Amino acid sequence: MSSQQRYRLRSPSSGREIITTAEPDQIYRDRESGEPLEVLGKVLPLAPSASKLPWAVENLRFCQWCDQHAQKDLNDCPTCGRRMGPL
Ligand SMILES: [Zn+2]
Repeated sequence: MSSQQRYRLRSPSSGREIITTAEPDQIYRDRESGEPLEVLGKVLPLAPSASKLPWAVENLRFCQWCDQHAQKDLNDCPTCGRRMGPL
């Protein structure tokens, strides 16, 4: 299980976005410009989660048991908990 929440952060001047784990009350700075990064939002799945994949179409499959979305790096469905077959 990963307990670290991941966030989308943006550099205000360049608009460059990164996804990284972040702790509350920490200031994260752009590696090149040194300016503080804006927090855009949390990345799904919310921590804690067994999956590291962002909740995006290309990372999802359908569980053959309950027909709900599941991240492709999981063996067990996060909705019904059953073991899913190979991709
Ligand atoms: Zn399922």
